[in-house]
Amino acid sequence: MYRVLTAGIRHETNTFATVPTTLDDFLYRPPESNPSGAAAGGFASGDELLERFRGTRTIHGGMIDGAREAGLELIPLLNVYATPGGVVQASAYETMKGVLLDRLREAGACDGVLLDLHGAMVTETLEDAEGDLIASVREVVGPTVPIIATLDLHANVTPLMARHATALIGFDEYPHSDMYERGVEAALMMGAALRGELRPVLASVQLPLLTMPPRQCTLCEPMRTLLRKAHEMEQEPGIANVTLSLGFPFADIRDAGVCVSVTADGSAELARRKAAEMAQAIWEKRDDFTVKLTPVTEALEYVRSRPNGLVVLADGSDNPGGGAPCDGTEILRQLVDADARDAVVAVIADPEAVAQAAAAGVGSTITLEVGGKTDDQHGAPVRLTAYVRLLSDGEFVQKGPMGRGVRACMGRTAVLVAGGVEVVVCERRIQPYDTALLRSVGIEPTDRRLIALKSAVHFRSTYEEIAERIFDADTPGVHRPDFAQYEYRRLRRPIYPLEQVPEGESALSFLR
Ligand SMILES: [Zn+2]
Repeated sequence: MYRVLTAGIRHETNTFATVPTTLDDFLYRPPESNPSGAAAGGFASGDELLERFRGTRTIHGGMIDGAREAGLELIPLLNVYATPGGVVQASAYETMKGVLLDRLREAGACDGVLLDLHGAMVTETLEDAEGDLIASVREVVGPTVPIIATLDLHANVTPLMARHATALIGFDEYPHSDMYERGVEAALMMGAALRGELRPVLASVQLPLLTMPPRQCTLCEPMRTLLRKAHEMEQEPGIANVTLSLGFPFADIRDAGVCVSVTADGSAELARRKAAEMAQAIWEKRDDFTVKLTPVTEALEYVRSRPNGLVVLADGSDNPGGGAPCDGTEILRQLVDADARDAVVAVIADPEAVAQAAAAGVGSTITLEVGGKTDDQHGAPVRLTAYVRLLSDGEFVQKGPMGRGVRACMGRTAVLVAGGVEVVVCERRIQPYDTALLRSVGIEPTDRRLIALKSAVHFRSTYEEIAERIFDADTPGVHRPDFAQYEYRRLRRPIYPLEQVPEGESALSFLR
């Protein structure tokens, strides 16, 4: 049986966010033992990780099942994750990397390494943490052991990543509903490579193109068509994988933006040709990535003009899934001012407000300041007189296509009711993409008229089928999909749409 080591350090770093990401943010906390986020679980490995991920629709869950199918012995060394946020402290990264490399050396000889990475991690000292990590793993295992890394669709692929990985397999879908399938694919590719049935050869080509999350959604155009083309290409002889990394535009690093990676069987020339062809197809659609933002007042008018139906207002600017603080108040303020009815704001991360609600108790009416406490980029705190309808430990099990079966935890949670507006206030930053979150606090989404969600796109995985209409809200924040807001200093230039760039293939840059 082939011996395959796995490791994951995952973070999506928003370099415009003000709160740094610490080691503590990466440490796993079993939800049931720790609803208030106190004790840390450390760096689990081996059977403990296999148990945690087995049966979940996660990357590692997929690797476990794929390894079984491919006849690989999977040995997890480390798997840590932190909610997207500000720049990772250098000491935190060095500690995690140190644990990973120590365990890699201690594990002895191996046949392959599967890495479960995001691809957009930035530390205080490294723009390209994943490139550094893959290069470091390569140094330990040597030049011939295959290293296959899975990446988020928001990976900013770099020359270092492309040079040292044997293959890069990114999520196809946004919402990321195919994490499990990509984990399976990585393990199966590893099996095929080890048995000599496949000789993976990678080509990665970077486009001079930056895109914003709302239009990166693969349920919508232009990505629906582009993804279909990628899938068709994967059916061609000699092509093992086609990955469209759309990039994370809220990381001001040289290599932010769109990159196509193709893994071919044995032929570097074929991999490069297909990567260039796919890149060209994306380039031709570059103007279709333009985002339209809707003012909250317009969304409210729309709701009032209809007798029924659910309208979802995506507050992507304050998406904690992209590193924002999740305590933005712009929509809440406008809904309260407009005396909206049957409206919900989910969620506002505000431990102080939760503590006040908990101290007052269910059934009481309190006056408090909600949200807007992290920085001055997400609106001021909103003063509310609200009824405390419910308090909970904030635990729920995800039921949608993303991470089904994963136990999620909001920390202690309160549902506050101010007039016709319900606000879900919780201790932790969490992206409310799964309808299971609202249902866990007694709110049936289909009974409401307007739900504001701190999510850019992932919410579509469960809300698209129940929403009559979805608007991308025009709100402030460090995840606002508006290039005019950001002052890029390190990003390579020229890059579209920040400026015009030379036409055609000459603008493509091969990373490998
Ligand atoms: Zn992503």
